[in-house]
Amino acid sequence: MTTPLLQNFAAGRWQNGSGDGETLTNPITGEAMVRVSNEGLDLHEAYQFSRQEGGVNLRSLTYAQRASLLKALVEVLTQNKARYYEIAQANSGTTTKDSAVDIEGAIFTLGTFAKLGASLGDAHLLREGQIASLSKDGMFQSQHFLNPTPGLALFINAFNFPAWGLWEKAAPALLSGVPVVVKPATSTAWLTHAMVEDVIRANILPIGALSIVCGSSKGLLDHLASFDVVSFTGSAQTAQIIRSHPVVTQKAIRLNIEADSLNSALLDPTALEGTQSFDALVSEVVREMTVKSGQKCTAIRRIFVPKLAYEAAAKAISEKLKRVSVGNPSNEAVRMGSLVSFAQKQSVIKGIEELSSELDVLFNGNSGAFMDVTQTQHACVAPVLLGSSNPKPLSKVHELEVFGPVATLLAYEELNDAFDMIEKGEGSLVISLYSDDPKFVVQASTRLGAHHGRVHVISSDVAAVQTGHGNVMPVSLHGGPGRAGGGEELGGLRALGFYHRRTALQASSLMVDALLKQSAVWVC
Ligand code: NAP
Repeated sequence: MTTPLLQNFAAGRWQNGSGDGETLTNPITGEAMVRVSNEGLDLHEAYQFSRQEGGVNLRSLTYAQRASLLKALVEVLTQNKARYYEIAQANSGTTTKDSAVDIEGAIFTLGTFAKLGASLGDAHLLREGQIASLSKDGMFQSQHFLNPTPGLALFINAFNFPAWGLWEKAAPALLSGVPVVVKPATSTAWLTHAMVEDVIRANILPIGALSIVCGSSKGLLDHLASFDVVSFTGSAQTAQIIRSHPVVTQKAIRLNIEADSLNSALLDPTALEGTQSFDALVSEVVREMTVKSGQKCTAIRRIFVPKLAYEAAAKAISEKLKRVSVGNPSNEAVRMGSLVSFAQKQSVIKGIEELSSELDVLFNGNSGAFMDVTQTQHACVAPVLLGSSNPKPLSKVHELEVFGPVATLLAYEELNDAFDMIEKGEGSLVISLYSDDPKFVVQASTRLGAHHGRVHVISSDVAAVQTGHGNVMPVSLHGGPGRAGGGEELGGLRALGFYHRRTALQASSLMVDALLKQSAVWVC
């Protein structure tokens, strides 16, 4: 039996790509699941249709009307959830709990933007800041407005969040009135495809507002036009190719890049074994290493603890990792499934070997068997904790992102040494601080804030309610400077900024007032 081919939805119709395409497999059994191809697809036509039909129709609606579309999307996706979990398990190798991070995260984010969008009411544009007077009599004024960009939004996504990766970007884009074309990562495109298919079938969005192109990235950027925007999530190498693409540079295409990140966890220098901060760090590290098998851009990669706590932290983390069962996610006794593909497994094993050349192996769960896994070529990798009690001279640990259940424990003597080492990551998505001391938190946040998109502080008073180091909340900023790509996503209504163009209106107070009546306040 031939493997089914997923169709692309472009130019308002379902279209087959030609050729054999690429095959998506089950990472536990190696079984071929579906194929994808966009060969022969007319991307110029697809993009034009998206701008002219999708964009124009979306922007004829108000923010509140578009917010109600997002609410309807939530309903459709919720009704079809069971199938998404099946696909995630079969194609991404995730347990039900880990699939939920992606699927429920996607639906929650859409729901949040539906609510935020409703608050913008019947407006067609946004306003920012206050009126400034440009004349002595105050009659000639300036006011900043934001208009939705009249182009399309192209999303090029990573393999690790096929559901959330689409909707966390699409929610603010659609709410802004900007049509979406998504190109999911090939290895896990099936789940993105299933969600898009359900949404198209439900006929909620104007035709052209949502398109999907699966398979090769060849030619994807060639047909972009001025006013289009590209939001990319993936590796730093691919980001570099996209940044320097001639169409992107010539047409000044606005880019948002979410790339690699060597996120840190930092324990207060006075928080030794036995303190709540120490225990919180141990639990959070184990959670971050194992959720989605460590395939989260926000996962903790580097753990900084005072030298006096190093041995105890190594022992406590290892003890917990020992209890993590790894294997076939369809077995309910399994806590951590596989990586998304055999290729990813090889990349992770190579990364562990590279890091091991300068670090000690504190825990490696890969000597035992994996639960319910019979094939020799599977994508399971058990957690690995590497570390050093004297990491100051080391470099690889601050450069190499191993995208799996792998983290490094690094001791510091002086707090400034920890800060210096954290900064060697050259910009990350998130750092978590473990402390009950506001002075330490102020010192660390002030020094390290500009290096991170998010500073997540875990103190005893919020230990039970904190949202987790690696969880991206729709109302908080996601993205990081430098190596992390320099992008910004989410952050509540701030996310709409990427999909709007800012204009300074200079006019009489009468004219400014007239436009103000059509606008909603963006971000206070
Ligand atoms: P990747 O290899 O860079 O691929 C990302 C996307 O780019 C895929 O859709 C890929 O398509 C596409 N692509 C590849 N070459 C391209 C080209 N020349 N032009 C245009 N598009 C191209 O990354 P990945 O392996 O999927 O994802 C893992 C990485 O993503 C990790 O480094 C992780 O840190 C990062 N990540 C970051 C975030 C964040 O928010 N900061 C979130 C998740 C993941 P194909 O799949 O068809 O090759």
